[in-house]
Amino acid sequence: MSDEPADQSAAVVEHRNLIVAGSGIAGLSAAIYAARSNHEPLVLEGDEPGGQLTLTTDVENYPGFPEGISGPELVNNMKEQARTFGADVENGVIESVDASSRPFRVEMATGDVYTADAIIAASGASARTLDVPGEDELMGYGVSTCATCDGAFFRDEDMLVVGGGDAAMEEAHFLTKFADTVYVAHRRENFRAEEYWIDRVQAKVDEGEIEIMKNTELLEIHGSPEDGVDHVTLARNEEGYPSEKLDEPETEQFEFDVGAVFLAIGHTPNTEYLADTDVETDEEGYLVTKGGDGGGQTATDVPGIFGAGDVVDYHYQQAATAAGMGVKAALDADAYLEDNATAASEGTGEAVADD
Ligand SMILES: Cc1cc2nc3c(=O)[nH]c(=O)nc-3n(C[C@H](O)[C@H](O)[C@H](O)COP(=O)(O)OP(=O)(O)OC[C@H]3O[C@@H](n4cnc5c(N)ncnc54)[C@H](O)[C@@H]3O)c2cc1C
Repeated sequence: MSDEPADQSAAVVEHRNLIVAGSGIAGLSAAIYAARSNHEPLVLEGDEPGGQLTLTTDVENYPGFPEGISGPELVNNMKEQARTFGADVENGVIESVDASSRPFRVEMATGDVYTADAIIAASGASARTLDVPGEDELMGYGVSTCATCDGAFFRDEDMLVVGGGDAAMEEAHFLTKFADTVYVAHRRENFRAEEYWIDRVQAKVDEGEIEIMKNTELLEIHGSPEDGVDHVTLARNEEGYPSEKLDEPETEQFEFDVGAVFLAIGHTPNTEYLADTDVETDEEGYLVTKGGDGGGQTATDVPGIFGAGDVVDYHYQQAATAAGMGVKAALDADAYLEDNATAASEGTGEAVADD
């Protein structure tokens, strides 16, 4: 958190009752509800309009679509629904929020500034990377954080998936559609994934489509942007976490031929733009909201700033749960704005965030 005063010189483009950071499922669900409450919310899309769900072709578990629906179609339907009720959805990345006075100043990467009486932070989470040599250079050229988006580009290649949680299992399972063999490198002995995914992956192991490499870590990716991934350097130690034990004689380092590498090692919440506020984050950077029962569950510890979706939720990270939190945030913001309006008309000062 910074004590630097924000630059107050930039001109204010517009004042809004409510600004929603993010046009993923959480932000758009919030926008639908807030628009129906006549708050005419402004949704700022960030650099991933529509959010993570635009990266997937089949969403089979979002309620109401027995045949499934594509991620982009679901998101576009929600945008249209939000606009129907009066929301504006616009391109733009929020650079910072100044919460030192009211209204909030929402400063955009372009230098534009909006003011807002309330903010819903629905800015999601971004895939993590490993920071190993070769990763940056080959990202998009054989290294990917999204199997659904990129798997088909590497048809008939051997592919490496790095990770041991649900995402890694799901990606490995999905990649068997395209890969010659999918290898899963996990730095520990046991997977963190749910039994459902472990069982599905095991079935593919039994069919010879997936091979599991336990206690194995990726050290380096070799190749070139022109020719893609050629091979990787891996380390294995039966006690786990081999990259921390490279000097031990039990640690084996070896080269391994694969044509693509998929990183499935979790997400980092997008909260940098709130760094100058007093909004609390946990040690992983996820927004901390009040939670519990009753109203105000999505309130952060800055009155008027609410959090919803994957930027808060490190556990469920599902479209339907993000939608539910978005709805709660809109209802909480509505109560806050109404209380503020009442307090202002009665001359009693600013309302607090929850009931
Ligand atoms: C490949 C893939 C497949 C998936 N499949 C499913 C599935 O089948 N079913 C399911 O339930 N879930 C699925 N998920 C998970 C689901 O997509 C997420 O749980 C959900 O998208 C979270 O929604 P969200 O609105 O919280 O965040 P996100 O979807 O991450 O959206 C965040 C939004 O915030 C914006 N943003 C970020 N920073 C800023 C900023 N500084 N200023 C302005 N805007 C900003 C981004 O541009 C984006 O628009 C999948 C995820 C992936 C990656």
